[in-house]
Amino acid sequence: MSVLIVGSIAFDTVETPFGKVEDALGGAATYASCAASLFSNVQMVGVVGTDFPEEHLEVLRSKGIDTEGIERTEGKTFRWGGYYDFDLNQAHTRYTQLNVFENFNPIIPDSYRDPQVLFLANIHPALQLKILDQVGTPKLTLCDTMNLWIDTTRDELLRVLERVDVALMNDAEARQLCETWSLITAGKRVLEMGPRIAIIKKGEHGALMFARTSGGSDSLKFFAAPSYPLEELRDPTGAGDCFAGGLCGYLDYTGDFSLESFRKAIVYGSIVASYNVEDFSVERLKWVSPEDIATRYNEFMLMTRFE
Ligand code: AMP
Repeated sequence: MSVLIVGSIAFDTVETPFGKVEDALGGAATYASCAASLFSNVQMVGVVGTDFPEEHLEVLRSKGIDTEGIERTEGKTFRWGGYYDFDLNQAHTRYTQLNVFENFNPIIPDSYRDPQVLFLANIHPALQLKILDQVGTPKLTLCDTMNLWIDTTRDELLRVLERVDVALMNDAEARQLCETWSLITAGKRVLEMGPRIAIIKKGEHGALMFARTSGGSDSLKFFAAPSYPLEELRDPTGAGDCFAGGLCGYLDYTGDFSLESFRKAIVYGSIVASYNVEDFSVERLKWVSPEDIATRYNEFMLMTRFE
């Protein structure tokens, strides 16, 4: 089976209290695909410019990611610049240069049209809609978004939410989209917008899952997981994308989309995110092993168990 991932592929210039990188490999689809590839087969769709080096594509291929769906067009690759203060949950954007994404008209290769899982990573919602129009009927469709699209393209984003099974966003985005301080109210409101599952990522404070089940007083299910407790990290960029990618990869690998399976998938997503933030760009993901993942999974079980 496979996960089809669509989203930004970027050159990121990032500054944190622990260092700085310029034009490093980044982008929501890049992080999510590297994370998902730790569990399953990944097909990636996006666009890069003529300035995008072959060695970055090689990094993706070395993770087993199918890059046939990455188009190279005349122009510059998408660029994002940002910084973090000591509150690493809050990214401050310095600039967003859409570049080749501005005129991107995604065409899904024929061999990609029947994925088991489709993840619409962060990208303009109009592009997310174009992808939805081209794929068959995946068993599971998920989307992510960000404050920029909630601000500037809310109607298109709402159309995406009507068509996906699972919506992922971070706490600030959920509050902004749902116009409430309460994440519980926000989770319920996101479910009213269409998805049957809403997952709110809270950075270092974990994640919440809200699920709509069929009828009755027990029709809303809730799950909360902490993040993996880290004392040292270098760059939180991509944590949310790695969380989503790890979650999608695990769900695709098991083919089990029950709420029980989602609970485990949330933990696996948190584990991949916890490794990713230990270094800049996707450096740490290059050498995460199955044993590393298993170690933190066991620690998660011990950390959260009580009778
Ligand atoms: P995260 O830290 O998981 O929220 O995502 C960070 C990634 O999002 C970076 O690698 C950026 O390149 C990418 N990104 C930032 N702004 C945008 C945008 N407007 N559209 C798509 N991707 C973006």
